Amino acid sequence: MKFYSTNNKNHKVDLRTAVIQGLAPDNGLYMPESIPVLNQAFIESLSTLSFKEIGFEVTRTLLGADLPESELEKLINQTLQFDAPIVQLKPNVFTLELFHGPTLAFKDFGARFLAGLLGYFAKEQNREITILVATSGDTGSAVANAFLNVPGTRVVVLYPSGKVSVAQEKQFTTLGGNITALEVNGTFDDCQRLVKQAFLDADLKQKLFLTSANSINIARLIPQSFYYFRAYAQVQQTAPVVFAVPSGNFGNLTAGLLAKRMGLPIANFVAATNANDVVPEFLRTEKFNPRPSIQTISNAMDVGNPSNFVRMLDLFNHDFKALSELIKGSTITDAETREAMQQVYRDKGYVMDPHGAVGYLGLKQFLKSKPDHTGICLETAHPAKFADVVETTLKTKVELPERLQKFMRGEKKVVKISSKFDAFREVIIGCLGKG
Ligand SMILES: *Cc1c(COP(=O)(O)O)cnc(C)c1O
Repeated sequence: MKFYSTNNKNHKVDLRTAVIQGLAPDNGLYMPESIPVLNQAFIESLSTLSFKEIGFEVTRTLLGADLPESELEKLINQTLQFDAPIVQLKPNVFTLELFHGPTLAFKDFGARFLAGLLGYFAKEQNREITILVATSGDTGSAVANAFLNVPGTRVVVLYPSGKVSVAQEKQFTTLGGNITALEVNGTFDDCQRLVKQAFLDADLKQKLFLTSANSINIARLIPQSFYYFRAYAQVQQTAPVVFAVPSGNFGNLTAGLLAKRMGLPIANFVAATNANDVVPEFLRTEKFNPRPSIQTISNAMDVGNPSNFVRMLDLFNHDFKALSELIKGSTITDAETREAMQQVYRDKGYVMDPHGAVGYLGLKQFLKSKPDHTGICLETAHPAKFADVVETTLKTKVELPERLQKFMRGEKKVVKISSKFDAFREVIIGCLGKG
């Protein structure tokens, strides 16, 4: 498969280049040059297949020419170590739990697939790849855990001292091995600046074979399509199926569009956002008006300029009518989010996290006008990840899953640095030199 840049369809690269570069040199996002359709027999047999069999077939159809079959199998085995079960909330409403991975959020899927691919490329090139990642919390933990002990890879996580929660910090500072955590005396923006500057430093980039694990990487998107197939397989398919996706950068929703293009018969999508609703606004008005983000209780979706929006347009060849017929926007306030969490807890005893609740409400609004549909909303994180909001809203204690408790018992190991580039440069050359 070749991948083109959304800024220039004639700029095409192979899978390895697209994954190692992340972003195209012209700042476009990579897209597959064609999207193959899965055969009908596969779609019809979905409910008899395991999650791994589904992931394997989707990946083989898309990237089969780029990887030996044995590597593909390894990649899927390593990515899908946990399931994505559905839970029924009403006769025609289901929630798709995407938080059964090591860091309790759907980002584990993308990070693990990316780790597997980069591990393969490192072996093929016979050199170590260094992944630099700046984090304000969640991305760092998903990436660090995905790359832990992947041969040929090394991860350096930069995070702002005192500005991430203890639970988040524990998830990437206690791992050791090929994971190095740098505690930066500065802000998240300082961390991002240091990473950007490292990529502009040609000598450093060459010495360390640097790459990023940014969320715009096409390798993070592909595996997120797997669970749409998995979810569809688990519901009665007699009614049209709608997926409601709580969204920030719109990677998850774009992965759903990919699944549909590959042949999964999805009738509609709901693009559910918090107050950061540039996409729902676009779907209403055809005007895209990115703006600074607003803080909400579903903070992983506080995005004012969603990076995957260009991919959505590209998939539809900028056909607004087609896009706005398939995808319905929904804007949810914090007060509505809390109310929905309370209502579902009262009626079903089910604890939703604030992000999942935004998706749930988006779905509820959609089903008012189309009650014949079967709805699936994506639950993107475990409620324990947002225990503060959940506990104050539901007035109940959230239990920490065992895998989170294990992190909490680990010992924090970091290298403390200032926010000056020279100091950062010296430290990474030093710690990577030691192998
Ligand atoms: C990242 C994240 C989102 C937003 O997903 P996008 O793919 O960026 O739209 C939603 N919920 C949670 C919990 C997240 O971590």
